[in-house]
Amino acid sequence: MVGLGQRLTKIEEAITPPTPAVSPEEWQRRALVKEIERRACFIAGFEALAPTMDPEHVTFVMDELARRQKWNYDGIWVFDFHEANKLTRHAFSMSVAAAKGTWRGPFVLPAAVAVVWRDDPHVMANAEQCRDCGYSHPYHNGSRVVPNSGGNVTSVEPSYGYFDNCVVCGGPVGCLFYMHEHNGYPPLFPFDRIRVDEVRALLEASAEIVESDED
Ligand SMILES: [Zn+2]
Repeated sequence: MVGLGQRLTKIEEAITPPTPAVSPEEWQRRALVKEIERRACFIAGFEALAPTMDPEHVTFVMDELARRQKWNYDGIWVFDFHEANKLTRHAFSMSVAAAKGTWRGPFVLPAAVAVVWRDDPHVMANAEQCRDCGYSHPYHNGSRVVPNSGGNVTSVEPSYGYFDNCVVCGGPVGCLFYMHEHNGYPPLFPFDRIRVDEVRALLEASAEIVESDED
């Protein structure tokens, strides 16, 4: 028969968490570095995107980003996109993608396109392409999963595009038109990474100031 002491030791061993691969401090430092990189990419990307936008839409995005921030589980101050407007989310992800060198096709967000992103909660991108320049136009996504008594079903409200002709070059717009015509993806947008490095250095410096203030 196993003694009580031995059993308690076994239970203790079973419920003691393993030594983490990285310390909580190191975990938090890595999360902060990641967030700083994301913000640097957004700022540098949005600096290039904003001049292609209607000033009213630039203000809309900036106001919402300023409003929607929170402390996350790692104790990092981050943007909270949970209930953010689709224009804000799209402008943010476009900017980050361009700054990371992964945005394809023209890097612009003209008023006619921004209005669709702002006003249609079921807007989507990446399928409606300009045949000639590859610009990705928003479209209304009609299919979505809705719960009913027999389980989840996909509704079949029709999907539709908003643009017959490209807002950038006037070329025809349709489902994967660029890829069919060119047998490949639109070219990567050549973003100047120097600005990202500058912004990151500024953000890193201010993060250090915050840390030393707390000492
Ligand atoms: Zn085009």
